[in-house]
Amino acid sequence: MRQMFVAGNWKMHGNKADIKSLITGLNAMSDRAGNAKVAICPPALYVDYVNRSLSASNIELGVQNIAEEPVQGAYTGEISADMVKDLGCQYVILGHSERRAIYKETDAEIANKVDTAIRSGLTPILCVGETLEEREAGQLEEVISTQINAVVAKVGINAFKNVVIAYEPVWAIGTGKTATAEQAQEVHAFIRNLLAGYDEGVASGIIIQYGGSVKPDNAKELFSQPDIDGGLIGGASLVAEDFMAICEAA
Ligand code: PEP
Repeated sequence: MRQMFVAGNWKMHGNKADIKSLITGLNAMSDRAGNAKVAICPPALYVDYVNRSLSASNIELGVQNIAEEPVQGAYTGEISADMVKDLGCQYVILGHSERRAIYKETDAEIANKVDTAIRSGLTPILCVGETLEEREAGQLEEVISTQINAVVAKVGINAFKNVVIAYEPVWAIGTGKTATAEQAQEVHAFIRNLLAGYDEGVASGIIIQYGGSVKPDNAKELFSQPDIDGGLIGGASLVAEDFMAICEAA
């Protein structure tokens, strides 16, 4: 039985005042998550501030990126997995479509970061997903397989016991367009099946989140699908009431 898992991706949003009021709301409403696992991923600069303000013991912390290199060194501007771990984080979002599209992160770089994260004791939330053009060209399965196979080739299938996958159709991120529950379920089942080709135990145990305009009013239906184990939430994770309503739906 897989545990439902909802994570908030704050992206590059927030300042100390906004974060204080968001965390106050999350602290007050954290019970609504019930048995679901919950994490929030603020901008790295604010992780320590969030950690010190967070009193809800059922909400864990993550970041949105790490360096490929695992340890300290001459890498100006980068943040290592070890540092993230040191600050009390458990998760790191990797391979988000914004990092793939805007910062041109390749499958090979993402695979290296997944490897680094696992070696440092972090759990990567590995994002995969197709653009609208790729979906319409019938390339969905090829795109998802390529993204996942690149990581399996680097870290090995056993390491996926410590990986969470987030299926995020690029056309649904921040657009208000959600995949229907059926569309999402179809891809989640495809991903689980792909992993089963490597190892059935890993495939049945891995948490696969859905991400892409999840809101309080569509969360329940998405999360009721057999292969959808929670969500990676962007915009709605910046509003305490909405985020906790989504956690409650899980
Ligand atoms: C995301 O950024 O991972 C995301 C799913 O964003 P949104 O929920 O705003 O679509």
